[in-house]
Amino acid sequence: MDIQKLIQKDGIIEKIAKAEECLWFNPNIKTGSGSFEGTAITMDDIEKAERRLDRFASFIMQCFPETIADGGLIESPLAEIQAMGQRLDTGGRLLLKLDSHLAIAGSVKARGGIYEILKHTEDIALQNGLISSDEDYAKLAEPECRQVFSKYTVQVGSTGNLGLSIGIMSAAIGYRVKVHMSADAKQWKKDLLRSKGVEVIEYQSDYSEAVKQGRRLSDMDPMSYFVDDENSVDLFLGYAVAAKRLKAQLEGMQIVIDSRHPLLVYIPCGVGGAPGGIAFGLKKLFGDNVHVFFVEPVQAPCMLLGMASGLNQEICVQDVGLTGITHADGLAVGRPSGFVGRVMKGMLAGEVTVEDSKLYDYMRQLLDTEGIFIEPSACAAFEGPVRLCRDGRQYLAEHGIEPVIDNAVHICWATGGALVPEEIRREYMNTYL
Ligand SMILES: *Cc1c(COP(=O)(O)O)cnc(C)c1O
Repeated sequence: MDIQKLIQKDGIIEKIAKAEECLWFNPNIKTGSGSFEGTAITMDDIEKAERRLDRFASFIMQCFPETIADGGLIESPLAEIQAMGQRLDTGGRLLLKLDSHLAIAGSVKARGGIYEILKHTEDIALQNGLISSDEDYAKLAEPECRQVFSKYTVQVGSTGNLGLSIGIMSAAIGYRVKVHMSADAKQWKKDLLRSKGVEVIEYQSDYSEAVKQGRRLSDMDPMSYFVDDENSVDLFLGYAVAAKRLKAQLEGMQIVIDSRHPLLVYIPCGVGGAPGGIAFGLKKLFGDNVHVFFVEPVQAPCMLLGMASGLNQEICVQDVGLTGITHADGLAVGRPSGFVGRVMKGMLAGEVTVEDSKLYDYMRQLLDTEGIFIEPSACAAFEGPVRLCRDGRQYLAEHGIEPVIDNAVHICWATGGALVPEEIRREYMNTYL
């Protein structure tokens, strides 16, 4: 592939390569059922995932008593953040989906990561005759079952949060766990995992390399299971369940979504699994009335690069001269999931990229206006409505949003933050780039 040619032929690739802030609208977006062309995943798959999570609720309560109040459901609040909306001048209603405060993992990874580990656990439990599928799964927390799980290993490559989610959950169930951490991963995340008995293997290289090594080592061990963030359909389905829960929350708040009240959702994107799964679920439920935008750092816009070039996982940000290095550690991914890029082809509204310095500003503004702390990676979401409302006229007009923009419901997806230790928060609060 000739990168220079690609850059010359396409203005957006040139902007990406210069690490400029981008606003990109997906030229391949389709309406109606056309959005789903090229994917075999269905609503039924999402509902099966939801039922599986329900089956595990009693077990989750056993392992994590903090989830008892919610009946073993791992779900986050949806908060109206009017003062922040005024500060950012987004218009319409601005809501924050607080996956930053999800139980167990303190990030969006509590959805996909935990779901995949539970599914794997169900498979092992059924294979070993530990349960039948109509029994109370709380039984799986008993010592005889843990004894069986301890013979199995779970491995994952991570920039940090996926490792926390997989590591904490797998260790709680009784598996041996190895987390392959890229150079971006924060020390406190490694420390926290080690304190739970997880083996942390550190790499000097980036996320893609940590994944590659982890996969290789796992493949050599027949008792080891590798959580593949780049290609896993299970992870994706775990994330997609969020859409059903969000719909119920909107209904509970009497917020109507229809063609006169469009829903605009902004999700920080790394390899693509979390935002992709959520976007997919939302499109299934709200169709053409929802518009989903991903947000990435200017130095690691891997999904934008993959989708805009059409090359998906065949291209990485280093190919166009970017470093892949960013303060947004959860988004420090150089090569996108090809699986997610293909599913998003007809349904993603667009992408926004953001400078690292703004993440800290948004973080301080949110704390100041709403008293809510979320981590820098998660703050990328705020660049979505800001940029769209400022420079997105054309998209808003073409999709019939402009005349009803005052009725729009904007949701920024806060993807992480609750587990960040106090001293690191203070450090973030004093970071000015
Ligand atoms: C992992 C993560 C994301 C993005 O998820 P991907 O599946 O990597 O795209 C966003 N924000 C935070 C805080 C994360 O940890």
